[in-house]
Amino acid sequence: MSQPNHRPSTLATTTLPKVVRAKGSYLWDANGKQYIDGSGGPAVYSIGHANEEVNAAIIAQLQNIAHGYRYNFTTDALEELTEILRDRCGGDLREMVYVTGGSEAVESCLKIALQYQTAIGQKSRRIFISRERSWHGNTFGSMGVSGFVERTVAYEGAFIPSVKLSPANEYRPIAGATAETAGAAAAAELEAAILRLGPEKVAAFIFEPVVGAAGGCVPAPPGYAAKVREICSRYGVLMISDEVMSGAGRTGTWRALAYDGVEPDIMSVAKGLAAGYQPLGVAIYSTKIHEAIIAADGAIGTGHTFTGHTTACAAGVAVQKIIQREGLLDRVKANGPRLKSWLGEALAGVDAIGDIRGRGHFICAELVANRATKAPFPAERKLFAKIRAQAMQNGLICYPVGGNVDGVNGDIVIFAPPYNCTDAELTEIVDKGARSIREVLTAEGL
Ligand code: PLP
Repeated sequence: MSQPNHRPSTLATTTLPKVVRAKGSYLWDANGKQYIDGSGGPAVYSIGHANEEVNAAIIAQLQNIAHGYRYNFTTDALEELTEILRDRCGGDLREMVYVTGGSEAVESCLKIALQYQTAIGQKSRRIFISRERSWHGNTFGSMGVSGFVERTVAYEGAFIPSVKLSPANEYRPIAGATAETAGAAAAAELEAAILRLGPEKVAAFIFEPVVGAAGGCVPAPPGYAAKVREICSRYGVLMISDEVMSGAGRTGTWRALAYDGVEPDIMSVAKGLAAGYQPLGVAIYSTKIHEAIIAADGAIGTGHTFTGHTTACAAGVAVQKIIQREGLLDRVKANGPRLKSWLGEALAGVDAIGDIRGRGHFICAELVANRATKAPFPAERKLFAKIRAQAMQNGLICYPVGGNVDGVNGDIVIFAPPYNCTDAELTEIVDKGARSIREVLTAEGL
């Protein structure tokens, strides 16, 4: 069953309300109906809507220059954002290519990986390894490494060479593993794949450290990321952390992988970076990679007309300053366990809830037909779409995704509220989310 891009959404069949205004955690449609933003769209609006400080920074930038073309000029906004991101990332992650969104960011990561491998005399390394139930993007490179099968099936045969491994998931461990051994088993599967393909053929391993829309806020099992780091380094395979959704503070650390104490070689960030005020993404990579490419080629080979878009960078600077000044990362980190326990309480006694998981302001409930076997509901039921519609009716934006088409996981309902939501707003989101799930299950006789 094919699902439309960009989202497995009901866009084709549903008449959507027209949004006309938003402020903080709330939006209003043309009929005056109010919605609370429980998911920041798809985990984008990290500091809420219509923030006056960000709007003022954008207007100030526009009044000076909207965009200083990156290949003619540098700008204050670009330089300031680069310093901020160097500080947030720490370590050797000091080089940036700014783009307009997540797919372009991932695409850039893939190209940087290949250029680096060529630069160091490893041109045979052309294969990427990724995991099933990963998103990664909508362009040919990024979609080619995506493990969300129902999105990619129509284009099979036209992608860059890649190999997909099983998801690294404590709730759904690889066959033969348990929740405790899920991470080790997934890491071992990676090592076996590298050896099977031949390390000299593998360019990079790309993964989401907390899997987003394709799996439902699945954190890396404990120890997994460190093992992956070790394996990648051992075989000369670059480690790419796709933090388009989970990065920029969404899970309580600026880099999602910082939670695991691991530094990748290359990473992608987008969505929350400029919080939806401007389209902005970035590929961030190590000095080591940069220096090797510059020594061999003189320049990074990837870039676009709007690379380093000045107004987008100015928005990114303003957003990141607010996150820092208001201590929002600490708040997000502390709220994670609270949100999970509130959602668990609000859904207590609902048989269809298989798992509640996630980290920071990135929490998900997974629905299953059978808790013991973890079997998903049949895809035809479209529970996720019904929950989305019911939530909208109840004045809540949440982010349900149907994950059951290939039988790998159940319908998921993601909550990704703004980092600066009040406790009262978080409670409203959880209550309306749980109510919407209950109402749909009751209507379905489940
Ligand atoms: N990578 C991940 C992990 C994502 O979740 C997404 C989008 O949801 C992308 C990449 C692609 O980002 P965009 O939709 O901005 O192109």
